[in-house]
Amino acid sequence: MRQTTRRGMVIIVSAPSGAGKTTLTRHLMQHVPGVVFSVSTTTRDQRPGERAGVDYHYVTRESFLEQVEQGAFLEWAEVFGNYYGTTRRAVEEVLLRGEDVLLDIDWQGARHIRAHLDEADVASIFILPPSREVLTERLVNRAREGQAEIDRRLGEARRDIGRAEEYDYLVINDRVEEAGEALVAIVRAERLKRHRQMDRVAGILSTFQG
Ligand code: 5GP
Repeated sequence: MRQTTRRGMVIIVSAPSGAGKTTLTRHLMQHVPGVVFSVSTTTRDQRPGERAGVDYHYVTRESFLEQVEQGAFLEWAEVFGNYYGTTRRAVEEVLLRGEDVLLDIDWQGARHIRAHLDEADVASIFILPPSREVLTERLVNRAREGQAEIDRRLGEARRDIGRAEEYDYLVINDRVEEAGEALVAIVRAERLKRHRQMDRVAGILSTFQG
């Protein structure tokens, strides 16, 4: 943990399916200490290679709706026919430790967070594929979904990209190394914003007194 008393920020990353978000957010967390992934809760099935409690908390629809009733979620949404949600706990714990929390959530969740949290505590990033052709190629190559699902995701991507304007930053994932570095640069610059460093200024000023 960094030596600081500052409260962490919420970093939202959204992208259409297949835009490379997982690779890019991993790059960010490997290169910038103090960025903690918020593990969402979902009703979708666990995919091969995914780990329960690390990638997602996998729950039944009943259990999810029960948690909604209990007010456990900071935000939740239905995406591709399944429920996904960010628990208040996952976010609060990290922020109080003074670390930054990374939310990999869709545009609905992003909208909700922006509406309910202090603007100064949130930085939102939208990742775009360079073109429809490239996105199609990536979805086909990863061979995870069938053709019908790929077509559905391409339709969704078109709508998602229209919402890019609601975000603070846009990163076009043309070359993955550059896009990864762009994410790193955004988080580093956000941390340097004046309002995130005022406590340090106060500390420095105190050394000038007397
Ligand atoms: P996937 O099933 O491919 O992991 O994720 C599908 C979509 O759900 C992605 O766009 C992802 O960002 C979004 N998602 C994952 N977790 C959450 C969450 O907690 N809240 C919201 N609103 N969206 C989420």
